[in-house]
Amino acid sequence: RTFAELNSLGRELLDAVKRHGYEIPSEIQSQAIPIIMSGRDAIGIAKTGSGKTAAFVLPLLVHAMDQPRIGQSEGPIGLIVAPTRELAHQIAHEAKRFGKSLGIKVTLIVGGDPKFEQFKALRDGGAEIVVGTPGRLLDMVKMKACTFKRCTYLVLDEADRMFDMGFEPQVRSVIGQIRPDRQTVLFSATFKPMVERLASSALQNPVRIVV
Ligand code: AMP
Repeated sequence: RTFAELNSLGRELLDAVKRHGYEIPSEIQSQAIPIIMSGRDAIGIAKTGSGKTAAFVLPLLVHAMDQPRIGQSEGPIGLIVAPTRELAHQIAHEAKRFGKSLGIKVTLIVGGDPKFEQFKALRDGGAEIVVGTPGRLLDMVKMKACTFKRCTYLVLDEADRMFDMGFEPQVRSVIGQIRPDRQTVLFSATFKPMVERLASSALQNPVRIVV
């Protein structure tokens, strides 16, 4: 299968995918992209290196392009939560790489970088996609940096690692900020009971994909 055969990614995004040297979708991409594009919640069991990032980023870009471009300060359309700064950086890099030619803006919100600059970026930046780590995202929520009222696509990446690192309370608080009629996608390398519990409370009738 080719990317073009995976449910309407759209001409511009297909061009961007091609330009960046992705020719054949990986297993997780072939399986997850059509399901996520159909609007279903999904659980992907896949490891780093499987191409899981593009599996949730490409449908998010389509989702973001489908929304009306209403001015700044409306808050993100998609929120991606990841356990570590490094992972959040990689995800933001991938989202920027494909989003740039589509005019989709990505903001990174991670610990270690200056808080006030992130606050300003969220307040004034008008990013369609926010990628962040749980603690710092929660700081931004508390500081009321932006509203999440138009956020309709939530990704929880490496959910098992977020639990291992003790981020469950922060992750649950962040989830609590996002409207219940959102689409939710969860990725994890393993399917532990804790992940199962989170999935059953945060996802609705999810499709499971194991690669
Ligand atoms: P990930 O598992 O998302 O961290 O991706 C692992 C690496 O594979 C990253 O460097 C991606 O840029 C690359 N990659 C992901 N999907 C594809 C693809 N379909 N074709 C070629 N490279 C890919």
